[in-house]
Amino acid sequence: MSFDSLGLSAPILAAVKEKGYETPSPIQAQAIPAVIEGRDVMAAAQTGTGKTAGFTLPLLELLSKGPRAPSNQARALVLTPTRELAAQVAESVETYGKNLSLNSTVVFGGVKINPQMMKLRRGADILVATPGRLMDLYNQKAVRFDKLEVLILDEADRMLDMGFIRDIRKILALLPKRRQNLMFSATFSDDIRSLAKGLVNDPVEISVSPRNATARTVTQWVSPVDKNQKPALLAHLIWEEKWEQVLVFSRTKHGANKLTKFLENNGIKAAAIHGNKSQGARTRALADFKSGSIRALVATDIAARGLDIDQLPQVVNFDLPNVPEDYVHRIGRTGRAGSTGQAVSLVAAEEFKLLSDIERLIKQVLDRKVTEGFEPVHKLPPSRLNTRPVRAKKPKKPRVDHRDGQRSGDNARGHKPKARR
Ligand code: AMP
Repeated sequence: MSFDSLGLSAPILAAVKEKGYETPSPIQAQAIPAVIEGRDVMAAAQTGTGKTAGFTLPLLELLSKGPRAPSNQARALVLTPTRELAAQVAESVETYGKNLSLNSTVVFGGVKINPQMMKLRRGADILVATPGRLMDLYNQKAVRFDKLEVLILDEADRMLDMGFIRDIRKILALLPKRRQNLMFSATFSDDIRSLAKGLVNDPVEISVSPRNATARTVTQWVSPVDKNQKPALLAHLIWEEKWEQVLVFSRTKHGANKLTKFLENNGIKAAAIHGNKSQGARTRALADFKSGSIRALVATDIAARGLDIDQLPQVVNFDLPNVPEDYVHRIGRTGRAGSTGQAVSLVAAEEFKLLSDIERLIKQVLDRKVTEGFEPVHKLPPSRLNTRPVRAKKPKKPRVDHRDGQRSGDNARGHKPKARR
């Protein structure tokens, strides 16, 4: 199949060709004609499937037809959970829309609001925004939605995880009732389905990978190791395996900083990206990583969300995530668009429960490889696949008598299990 048969016009096809894409990815093949037809879409797709072009290309096609956005109005609104993702979507809009005369603007928090207000004055055919900053701009009367034609929620699951539900509901209440809605989410939890109910109308449902399954081109394995040996093992693997570009996930910001220093001290150029870093520092770290001047990028889950790094060969889970779904998101960063990748998890004995939860979610026991010289003293128990279905998590009321060992241990250290970084 080629892009020519999807209903896109010549200026957009030319931009796609210039980008070097020959064949539409499965989500593009399904979403593009549906969006051009004016249908609502609900798609289960993670980063790496080509979802951004899947909604950007038909959106540009639709918007190229109507009148341009008046001052302080937006015709299409793309909501994303993070600044990085917003910037990347905006970049795609620019790339694919380069032969059209549409105006696009991106707004997110952490940077000055005034330049964003100025840009909105000329009107935005496509406005890409994170929810909090969008509400600020609305409250300052910098943006209006009377002319809004299309709403896109990108990575809707992550927006809920990050606590944006109230902002999203407020924004929805401001939009015209008659509009087209597109919703993208890596996983479709009950919460997402309930949000979708009041949002999409008779949607075309698209699912490009089995629910909660990890990308198939990724080789995944576990390296059992004692917790205190993890930094040394990581440095060893980077040198021994000659990993030139590795994205490392750390559960905490403090852990990310500490590990970055350790790697630097071991001759590995590294940078940390997380919520405490300024927008400038995050953008710079990402650019250095992409260009190859930084070998290891150490990131927390939220900061790494949606990072678009072409053909990232190597992901390391330095800590396992608290929430098993985050494992799937992390792995989504590698082995994309037909390339292959490797995902390694450094797992200490005390993380066994987290490992079991992940294996249950992905319905697969991960291979294990102990690295010579790093044999753990505290042995990781063998995995047994638990085939009971994973239930959607309901927020729990705090309980005085913690019966669950993991949870009470975490609480005792003043750590909230659901807290996101
Ligand atoms: P996304 O899932 O939108 O984050 O896209 C993942 C990566 O795939 C990006 O680096 C895109 O540039 C790339 N990509 C998107 N569509 C295609 C395509 N049809 N052919 C090849 N690469 C693509």
